[in-house]
Amino acid sequence: MIKINGIQYMTDFEAKRAILEIGKRMYDKGFVAANDGNISIRVGPNALWATPTGVSKGFMTQDMLVKTDLSGKILIGNRKPSSELKMHLRVYEENPDVFAVTHAHPPVATSFAIAGINLDRAILPEAVVNLGTIPIAPYATPGTQEVPDSIAPYCKTHNAVLLANHGALTWGKDVFEAFYRLESLEYYATVMMYTGNIIRKANELSCNQVSALVQIRQNLGIQSGGMPHCAIQETNLSGFTSQPIESYGNTKEATDEREEKNKEALIQEIVERVTQIILQTYGKGEK
Ligand SMILES: [Zn+2]
Repeated sequence: MIKINGIQYMTDFEAKRAILEIGKRMYDKGFVAANDGNISIRVGPNALWATPTGVSKGFMTQDMLVKTDLSGKILIGNRKPSSELKMHLRVYEENPDVFAVTHAHPPVATSFAIAGINLDRAILPEAVVNLGTIPIAPYATPGTQEVPDSIAPYCKTHNAVLLANHGALTWGKDVFEAFYRLESLEYYATVMMYTGNIIRKANELSCNQVSALVQIRQNLGIQSGGMPHCAIQETNLSGFTSQPIESYGNTKEATDEREEKNKEALIQEIVERVTQIILQTYGKGEK
């Protein structure tokens, strides 16, 4: 590691070695097919190392990698960076706390991105703390300026985003955090697929339980990640009184409808409690 203006960066050697390692793991896990996916690591205030275009991430050598500045201008390397590097550059531009970005097409998460279903349910504590909710950026034509524009609103508030009909993008304080978020995202999507569409049953964490997790997240210094959808009523996680849930159809329309139902349930609960208090307070004299 080297320190520049008080900020720690990987050296060129460390960054190149890490990109090869993460690329191989990404390929081995089936997150990318053929030449899909890309990885970048910032190594200075205006420099990064990135994967090249047209190469399998499972079979890269150090001489294939490209060093560019934060506008994408090539500083070192014989190959061109991927056209998808524009997304990485935009994340660095929007959020200076990010030092690495990973992009892949993991099949389950990508299926949710194609279905237009956000990954925003409070079902796994680890996902709430380290990953947060994952919004879907609207579809954009690959390689165009529309793609970085579509992800820009989420770079500071979230840790990952699904790209509609395309794949997933994650970022972090280093390349390991970015890649672990990619792994967690695919795992989370897989569990959502099993519980929502195969088992068709899940106990969501309650809003109180989610608040406690968000507190832990803040104590860990993670400010981003959003608030997942949670159950207003405590559910019995032993499973005996579990509520069957319909498959997670949380498209925008379904999310709006669900939020409306949650509001109604909350209002109902408040009315019942207030009625109880009134009866306890004013009903005493009559007894
Ligand atoms: Zn892609």
